[in-house]
Amino acid sequence: MNTTRETVSLLDSTAMGSATGLSRAADLAGVPDVAAVRTGQHPCARCGEPIVRRRIRATHDLSLCLRCEQKARAAAYFQLYYTSNKDRILNKNRRWAKDHAPTLAERRRERAAQKVAEPKACIDCGATVARAARCRRCHIRFRYAADPQYRAHRLATTRRWLDKRAG
Ligand SMILES: [Zn+2]
Ligand SMILES: [Zn+2]
Repeated sequence: MNTTRETVSLLDSTAMGSATGLSRAADLAGVPDVAAVRTGQHPCARCGEPIVRRRIRATHDLSLCLRCEQKARAAAYFQLYYTSNKDRILNKNRRWAKDHAPTLAERRRERAAQKVAEPKACIDCGATVARAARCRRCHIRFRYAADPQYRAHRLATTRRWLDKRAG
């Protein structure tokens, strides 16, 4: 959509390796030894899947499975890339927004119009609502069922009202 904005190639793996702080994670407790990792006896600290690795290098974070380590590495790379190029990226994006002000205004108008065209509906009965998830009736019914304190309060109020009317 916006080709002028900053994009980062995930394939830049040489930079990625040096950009991570993953070796720090290995200093923490609970890191399995190489034998446990090789035989799949240790779960990944992030996703819980058993870690199975054939090749193990000194730079590998052995507390994570291959997929989670790659994800962490990519996240660390993007983080570092962004922080070290922050001003340049923000300036570029701001310049783009300025150059394309009419386009952005048009998009904003379209979104606003769409919002008005799609009225919200109560998630229980489908009645039209302005903002809330439930209409007033369904909200009261829902709280009655879900909130014992509210139910007790409402019942007490009703009882008082009945007594008064009978009295
Ligand atoms: Zn994992
Ligand atoms: Zn409703």
